Amino acid sequence: MNIDEPALVVFSGGQDSTTCLFWAKAIFAKVYAICFSYGQRHHLETDIARKIAADAEIDFRLIEVPFLHELNRNSLTDNSITVDTEIPENKLPNSFVPGRNLFFLSIAAAYAHELGIKHIITGVSQTDFSGYPDCRENFIKSLNKTLNLAMDEDFVIYTPLMHRDKCQIWALADDLGIFDLVRNNTLTCYNGIVGDGCGKCPACKLRKHGLELYLAQKKEPLIF
Ligand code: ZN
Repeated sequence: MNIDEPALVVFSGGQDSTTCLFWAKAIFAKVYAICFSYGQRHHLETDIARKIAADAEIDFRLIEVPFLHELNRNSLTDNSITVDTEIPENKLPNSFVPGRNLFFLSIAAAYAHELGIKHIITGVSQTDFSGYPDCRENFIKSLNKTLNLAMDEDFVIYTPLMHRDKCQIWALADDLGIFDLVRNNTLTCYNGIVGDGCGKCPACKLRKHGLELYLAQKKEPLIF
């Protein structure tokens, strides 16, 4: 697939959105990145995103969404809450930020409208979605329709990771030639440690499990 038009990537500097950034770079004529500061625990996150985008010569825009953490208490924006290490039964994990993807994609669409961009990419995945409803495909499809109605646009929201688990996301990064960049320079860890992270938080566990599976697969000899 090669599309001679620009695209906008919702970008956080983590494993998933970095993979999406380079996925978009391989397909679209020009790529823009939009990143959000919403009171997340680690301001480092936006610095890392800015650096990855700059190194890849991608136009980077940081938008402040300061009100998001004022609406509710969650472990991603409140240091006094310990991040749930397991998904609680019949309940969303305390790392869920209600409305986050709804706000982010709506803001991204408004910015895309301004830039004359119709292709929007987000790194959500329902395979490893940790219980977050706004990572599911039915939500994204519904929002795509709503944004088109809201702005009289023909936006297409792409979710290249939607049906990929973490192991397959590592494989995609490797295919795109950015395995080392993703492994060493991205920030996924809830404790703010770049690269392989703390190894203990849920985000690190998921990332590490996928990485180990991928590396084990890679070592298997090819069968002819
Ligand atoms: Zn961690």
